Amino acid sequence: MRSLYREDKEYVLNVYNRINLDIVKGEGSYLYTSDGDKYLDMYSGIAVNLFGHKHEEVITRIIEQSQKYIHLSNYFASEPVVNLAKLLVENSFASKVFFANSGTEANEAAIKLARKFGKRFSEDKYQILSAHNSFHGRTCGALSLTCQSKYQDDFRPLLPGVDYFNFNDIADLESKVSDKTCAVFVEIIQGEGGIWEVSQEFIGALVQLSKKHNFLIIVDEIQTGMGRTGDLFAFEKFNFTPHIVTSAKALGGGIPLGAMLVAEELEDVLQPGDHGSTFGGNPLACSVGEFAVREIVSEEFCNEMKEKISYLFAEFNKFKTKYPDIIKEIRGRGFIIGIEVGKYANRIKEIAFEKKLLLNVTNTTVVRLLPALNIKMSELEEFTRLFDEILNDIRE
Ligand code: PLP
Repeated sequence: MRSLYREDKEYVLNVYNRINLDIVKGEGSYLYTSDGDKYLDMYSGIAVNLFGHKHEEVITRIIEQSQKYIHLSNYFASEPVVNLAKLLVENSFASKVFFANSGTEANEAAIKLARKFGKRFSEDKYQILSAHNSFHGRTCGALSLTCQSKYQDDFRPLLPGVDYFNFNDIADLESKVSDKTCAVFVEIIQGEGGIWEVSQEFIGALVQLSKKHNFLIIVDEIQTGMGRTGDLFAFEKFNFTPHIVTSAKALGGGIPLGAMLVAEELEDVLQPGDHGSTFGGNPLACSVGEFAVREIVSEEFCNEMKEKISYLFAEFNKFKTKYPDIIKEIRGRGFIIGIEVGKYANRIKEIAFEKKLLLNVTNTTVVRLLPALNIKMSELEEFTRLFDEILNDIRE
């Protein structure tokens, strides 16, 4: 019998640690294999498949847009692109949107905008800061901001003029910024870094320093945005307005799409020819993206999610009491949850796999849950039952 896993090893460049499963189809929150097995998927394509798989409206949008056109090039205005940009503007602080294909590209656009913004004031206002333990992507600009040595070390020298602060450390941030700073990048919840949320105090200090030194606050919502925390963007819970927000992952409802949302005062920094992308703002992706954003901002979708989130956190608090030797901490918000389990993380992942539950581990000690936002209550109940069994097996 054909093994995709084996052939993938033979022909595809070996940069991913693949899971040894041959997936033949997905439906809702389940993945089906060529062996006829069914797995409950708590990755949702790493926060991409916000509606799980085979969502009817997503399929309809893909078919209908394909019947009109799939790609035009950015020489033309396109209806789905305009519709999605308008929707994002109407539901956020932004007045304009630039579309890319991925998260890292959205951040590249933001780096360029920030650098050009700095040049308005002086030639040496080009310093960009990001947090230790952050993740902003893997292209060379974004990688320069991804402050984790395991991703950076083999690719030095990186972008000059980049420095790092300790996440949530106001004094450290203060010591790093100056009038030469053009932008500070921050994740509201560090996702890849292990689910660590920014504090309101830190955001308050960041806003004050941004006013004092005239730098941009760029919020990377690539993982936390698009409804994952219960709001369109996670920063909305904090009392401030960023200058730029970057989005991707779930933005295209499963189709590759990234975006940079820009505040009005920055609209004219990038001019024709300054930046661009052949595929960025692909009509097919934007058509699905428009549906995705419409769903997220609808009251019904949010209310349903809130109920499921409360259930999940209540269950986890019970687990924490029942298994204090295994669960050290539960972090995150909405459907981006990190369970700090120390040395048990990989064992939990392995036992889960045996039980046909797909769990992701990040930063070696954290089980990261990123379920589809429309996961059913019955599926969450199945998940908590299995998780209880796993923790019980570990204890034994
Ligand atoms: N920023 C954050 C916060 C992310 O989580 C990721 C991906 O995991 C990226 C940027 C990079 O996105 P992409 O993989 O689409 O380039």
